[in-house]
Order: sequence, then structure tokens, then C-alpha cells
Amino acid sequence: MFDQAALKAQFPILSLSEKGHPLVYLDNASTSQKPVSVIDAINRYYREQNANVHRGVYGLSERGTEAFEGVREQVRHLLNARSYKEVIFVRGATEAINLVAQSWGRTNLCAGDEVIVSEMEHHSNLVPWQMLRDQLNIKIIKWPINDQGELSLDDLTGLITSRTKLIAVTHMSNALGSINPIAEIVKLAHQSDIKVLVDGAQSISHMAVDVQALDCDFFVFSGHKMYAPTGIGGLVAKQDLLEAMPPYQGGGDMIYSVTFDKTEYNELPYKFEAGTPNIAGVIGLGAAIKFIQALGFEQIAKIEDDLLHYATKRLTEIEGLRIIGTAKNKGAVVSFVIDGAHPHDLATLLDQDGVAVRASHHCAMPVMQKFNVPATVRASFGVYNTHEDIDRLVDSVHEALDMLR
Ligand SMILES: *Cc1c(COP(=O)(O)O)cnc(C)c1O
Repeated sequence: MFDQAALKAQFPILSLSEKGHPLVYLDNASTSQKPVSVIDAINRYYREQNANVHRGVYGLSERGTEAFEGVREQVRHLLNARSYKEVIFVRGATEAINLVAQSWGRTNLCAGDEVIVSEMEHHSNLVPWQMLRDQLNIKIIKWPINDQGELSLDDLTGLITSRTKLIAVTHMSNALGSINPIAEIVKLAHQSDIKVLVDGAQSISHMAVDVQALDCDFFVFSGHKMYAPTGIGGLVAKQDLLEAMPPYQGGGDMIYSVTFDKTEYNELPYKFEAGTPNIAGVIGLGAAIKFIQALGFEQIAKIEDDLLHYATKRLTEIEGLRIIGTAKNKGAVVSFVIDGAHPHDLATLLDQDGVAVRASHHCAMPVMQKFNVPATVRASFGVYNTHEDIDRLVDSVHEALDMLR
């Protein structure tokens, strides 16, 4: 038998109380909590290992560099990238997408070219393309979602033109939970020599990702949604694309040699890592990957599928509740609205019971516009959540409705 209580006990924050009730944390699509192994790794790093990387010849710095590069290898292995050169450390998914837009985009796109962006994207996979559009006069083509919150490959085929250069699409929607058929999308795109950027901010902690099997050109993620610290994430991209891209930022570490007039850039992956990196964040990311791999994606899927089904069933029983996002292929996110209860009022009342959910547009305002709602309440699950958490959510919703209606 799998020991759920022991798993939950690895997360110190989950034993806290909120407003006099044991905390029920259901906002994992915003950020996940951190296991003690991650917290300890960061603590140990600052107590025993702190020194800059790639610079010192003294033992402390060399050991730090080894640990830092070891995590790069862990990321390579987790995502099955071909080489460590394909793994760039950045602040998170947002920075990774901005890097691709400004470096690859500015080099490879010109006025009139088209970037297809799905309607379910997080703002961080839309706004950087809008900025690029305004800089280069390219076009952004919307790939609409249906009423279930799904994308159709037939629709995509109809949107592709001779000017299409990139498809920017999320692996899993943070607002709806929809999981998209990335391998099929990439196959279709590559037939027309179109590149694909996959936003893996949500998928990475929930399912095994193999960038070679997906054959995607760019894959981005954030550490903080996969049990790692904030401020660290990655861009994993095909080496030939990265080789041909200019640096995104200039500074230390990304150079090979500098004279006052001219700079020779460092090789991959360092070319894209200007300045002192988030070393502690990288160390924490390494511990988080170990945590995920020790649990295993089979177990993770078992836990989260069960939570999704139980939450969907219990929430659907509530009168007047409508789930937003009912894709056939869906991760552990349940967004909903209830007749006669504003999402913010609902979330505020849930908080009084120690139940933390998010009520907002979830950084996906076009999704809200599509479903004609100002916001939704979203319960999103991590491996430590339980049926009891969902029961607490449902009880609290009933109590809130008694007050609001
Ligand atoms: C959270 C999220 C992002 C942005 O991640 P940051 O960590 O804020 O950079 C992008 N896409 C999706 C799908 C997300 O859930």
C-alpha cells in the first residue's frame, strides 16, 4: 500500500493551520509546496557550499560547479534531451519564452510571418509574441478552443499558411487542465517546416515528458510548479537551433573572450546564461527532480487521476456549479463557477475555512473571455492532496453558498 500520509508529511507547510483550520492547499497550478528535501538542499547549500560557479579554482567553487552542472544533467535526463548543451537555466517559463521570442524570433521572423498561438495560453505564452509582433510586424494567429477547452488538429491544419513559422502551445492548460496532443501537433508542424514551442510549466510535474519523442523544438518549464524553488526554470531546445541563435543577454559567464571592442561568445549552454545564475535555485531544482523521480510518474498519475475524478464527481453534485474545462484528456485542475456566487467572494469564504484555492483569470484572460466569465475558482492538485482535502473544499463551498445565496 502506498503511504499517502508519509508523502504529505514531507511537506512542512502542510501541517500549518490557517484561520484556525488545518491548511488545505489547492493552488498547485500557481505554485507547488516544497518537500523537506528541497528546503534542506537549499539550506545546506548556503551553510556549506556557497561559492560562485564556473569561476573559482578553489575546492568550494569547484564542488559548487560540479553540483550545479549535475543538476543540468538531471534536467537533461528528466526530459530526455540529447545533450547538456540543450539545457539552459533561466528564471522560469516566462523568461524562457521571452528568450525564444527575442533571440530566435528576431533572427528568424520578418514582417508578415505568422505565429500560431492557442487560445488557452497563459499570458506568458502570448504577451512575448505580441511584443515581438509590435517590433517586427509579424502576425499572431489565434488557434481557438472548443466549448470543452480542447484544440483540434483539423482547425490547426486550416490555420497553417506558407507564412507560418512557429506554433506556441501549452502542454497542459493551467486554467482548464486540458492536455494537448503535442506529438501530433509537432508532426503536423514539421511537415511544413514550422517550429513548435511547448509550454511545459504545468505538464512537467504531472507526466513523463520526453522531448525527443515529442520532437518539439523548444520546451520551457518553471521549477516552482514542480516542487522546486521560485526563480529557476529551464529552456530545453534543439542544439542546432540554439547554436544559430544570438545571445539573449550579455554579461559574465556567457563570454569566451572579451576585448573592449569585441566579444567571442561562450559555447552552449553558457551562451544563454549571462551573469551569476540562481545557484541555490538550481540545487533546489535538483532535489525536486529527485523527489519526483523517487515517487515516479506512474504513482503521480495514479494519485492525481484519482483526485481529479473524485473532485469532479463531488463538485458536480453541487447545485448550479459549472466546470469550465471538460477536455477528454485532462490533468488535475478543476476550474468552476457557481450561479449566484462571485468567484472572489467564494474564495474569500473558503479561505476562512483554511481552504486555499485561486479565484482569478489565472493569467489566461482570453480563456475567461471565451467562456464568458470574469474569473473562475480553481482547485488544482499536487501529489500530497487527498480525498479529505476535497471533502473539506466541498463542505466549505456548501457553507459559503448558504451565506452568499
Ligand atoms: C505558471 C505558468 C507559466 C508561467 O510560469 P512562471 O513561473 O510564472 O514563469 C506559463 N505557462 C503556464 C501554463 C503556467 O502554468
